[in-house]
Amino acid sequence: MAKLTIRDLNVRGKRVFLRVDYNVPLEEKDGHIVITDDTRIKETLPTLKALIEQGGKLILTAHLGRPKGQREPSMSLRPVAARLAEMLGRPVAFVDDCIGEKVEKTAGLLKEGDVLLLENVRYYNEEEKNDPAFAEKLAKVADVYVNDAFGAAHRAHASTEGVARVVAKRGGKCAAGLLMERELKFLGDELENPARPFVVILGGAKVSDKIKVIDRLLEKADTILIGGAMAYTFKLAQGLKVGKSLVEPDKTGVALAALEKAKQRGVQFLIPTDNIVATPVATDKLNKKGKPIIDLNNPRTNTDQNIPDNEEGVDIGPATAEAFRNAIVGAKTILWNGPMGIFEDKRFAAGTNAVAQAVVDATQKNGAKSIIGGGDSVKALNKAKLGDKVTFMSTGGGASLEFLEGAELPGVAVLSDK
Ligand code: ADP
Ligand code: MG
Repeated sequence: MAKLTIRDLNVRGKRVFLRVDYNVPLEEKDGHIVITDDTRIKETLPTLKALIEQGGKLILTAHLGRPKGQREPSMSLRPVAARLAEMLGRPVAFVDDCIGEKVEKTAGLLKEGDVLLLENVRYYNEEEKNDPAFAEKLAKVADVYVNDAFGAAHRAHASTEGVARVVAKRGGKCAAGLLMERELKFLGDELENPARPFVVILGGAKVSDKIKVIDRLLEKADTILIGGAMAYTFKLAQGLKVGKSLVEPDKTGVALAALEKAKQRGVQFLIPTDNIVATPVATDKLNKKGKPIIDLNNPRTNTDQNIPDNEEGVDIGPATAEAFRNAIVGAKTILWNGPMGIFEDKRFAAGTNAVAQAVVDATQKNGAKSIIGGGDSVKALNKAKLGDKVTFMSTGGGASLEFLEGAELPGVAVLSDK
């Protein structure tokens, strides 16, 4: 990797300003705030342990939720400090601010191997604005900067970018943590010259979300499989009927361009030949976000290329799942981003689960490297209890998508070169 990692550092006695992704889901239970999923904390432990081993004085910063520059008590990182201490098996100090005297005083008292977590950095508006003066304040306690928050690296914020600039200007080192290093390896280096066949599976809601990724991967992949709602925009582009399916009529042009590029480059490009469809029926109920709930009734398999006028495509059909499986099991490299259907409803999860199983089989039986990006794809794989049977699952939803598009992430760009 072209960027410095903590393996290249010796931080003994130094204050290491470590940006982590502790944006964990919280819930209130009996008047207490509890962490409902500590995966993100767990994922930083290797980096923390390595830096503790090296004798660094660790100062952790993170954001939680969207407090919009306010001291929103329900978004405090204090419960995270307690959980981290349990998981790490050593005390974790906490300061209820991320800049200022109290932080500097506590940081000054740290001994080698000590860990301090600072309060939610988004309690300050200056964070998201990447305010230079705020970055200077954060950097007051930093000799070395380490970023292990891949999921936040696509944002140029003070704690992901500005503070690193200040440290670098002073001659300090800025390095990737071990989690960040893994993300860059699998989403970057491994896909640069993939073992072939290289099969890319793309799904999810919108073509517009993924068109840049499709375009870039058309230059690398041997096969591209398209599922999810985005498949209907491709169908529409081919003059087929899509009924009430989720489509983007203004994106048929880019869909056609992708199909043409695939033809020119000899990339096999598969679009579903059959679908699970259901009849959408409006209800007078609202969901948590206040949006009207639409029931999806009478699910059935539609084997026609066209979808009937009053029905909606909700998953790939069994023949498509079989065709996708055949392409996947022979692969040596697999990249998967986006579920095949509305997998949150178990009636429409079969296509996503079939693809998940095929990816696992290719990994376990064919020695394929399987890389999963995208928040919902990871969720789907975990739901099917197959998360530990693939090669790599990215922790960065939006960040992994931008990285796959070939964008330079500001939080990565700012790290020191090797
Ligand atoms: P990821 O987070 O893995 O990148 P996306 O966010 O792009 O994936 O898409 C996931 C969402 O796409 C899911 O909420 C899923 O319900 C939705 N989706 C998939 N297929 C369909 C479909 N046929 N119709 C409507 N929504 C769909
Ligand atoms: Mg998503």
